[in-house]
Amino acid sequence: MRKLATVRTVTEILPIEGADRIVLAVVGGWKCVVKKDEFRAGDSAVYCEIDSFLPIREEFEFLRKSSFKRMGEQEGFRLRTVKLRGQISQGLLLPCSVLDREAIVGEDVTDELGIVKYEPPIPASLSGELVGGFPASIQKTDEERVQNLAADFGSWKGKAFFITEKLDGTSFTAFVDEGFGVCGRNWQLAESEGNTHWQVVRRHDLEEKLLGLGRRLAIQGELIGPGIQKNRYGLKVHELFVFNVFDLQAFAYIEKREAAQICERLGLKTVPVLGEMQVPDSMDDLLALAEGKSVLNSDTEREGMVWVHGSGRERISFKVISNRFLEREE
Ligand code: ATP
Ligand code: MN
Repeated sequence: MRKLATVRTVTEILPIEGADRIVLAVVGGWKCVVKKDEFRAGDSAVYCEIDSFLPIREEFEFLRKSSFKRMGEQEGFRLRTVKLRGQISQGLLLPCSVLDREAIVGEDVTDELGIVKYEPPIPASLSGELVGGFPASIQKTDEERVQNLAADFGSWKGKAFFITEKLDGTSFTAFVDEGFGVCGRNWQLAESEGNTHWQVVRRHDLEEKLLGLGRRLAIQGELIGPGIQKNRYGLKVHELFVFNVFDLQAFAYIEKREAAQICERLGLKTVPVLGEMQVPDSMDDLLALAEGKSVLNSDTEREGMVWVHGSGRERISFKVISNRFLEREE
């Protein structure tokens, strides 16, 4: 589960040009607008990331005007990326007094504050009936946000990263273990006529082809198209773009050149490759690089990038979401 609310140290407080009542708090790689004099550098505070869905509580009522939202039956306050006085602000910084107890830096206080992740409703064609949980023999698809890795940033200097476009769809895994199976982000999905994942499997003859490789492998990619997120790429049919091939035998990702060959044999596309490079000098520069149009459709902002270095135990990876994309998100 994502740690949406954590106790952290305020790294720095920066002035905002043209504003005298608000300042910018830097917390790791995140920047968040706060009232002047509320926090100082070095203070401990509770930082709530974007996508947090806060419960209706007296302390959070100040969020009502900007952030009230329904999620199914639930009502709450949803934190999203905003621009204030030309300054991007992400998340919410609260004094540790919201906890009613002593706070320790590093603690995850998501549950304690009743915070859950805001998720838009999922159409029936993407959920459907489940076989069960995600197989333990496969790594789930997930990438950490670079803003939470500020402490590691310095150690990436001089390393070559392979960069792909992050597509805004839904996670797809097809695998061969004892038999063939298909999963979404968190569950293994039962075959049905209406399920989008299985439709794509049938269209590509993926079951037969993957079994034909005679290896315990998982193909992991992003499924995009009609009915998925906002279909920002404007596709007429669903398409799968592979970002990882996982070896169940070794419990490790397959090196990217071999993975590309496997995709070719299976007749599958891979996610758009944006190049190979080293990290720039600062987190701000890295965030700026993530902004740009999608390779798949130049009329739409790309969601961001995924950076991967090395393989096996050396492997480092993270996502850099475009702030321009987030600003426009509803
Ligand atoms: P969060 O973790 O931020 O709450 P989330 O769990 O939905 O949100 P995403 O922000 O969508 O995660 O980022 C991770 C997901 O990105 C992966 O699960 C994968 O499905 C998807 N993804 C899309 N494009 C790529 C890519 N090029 N490389 C790796 N993963 C990608
Ligand atoms: Mn996602």
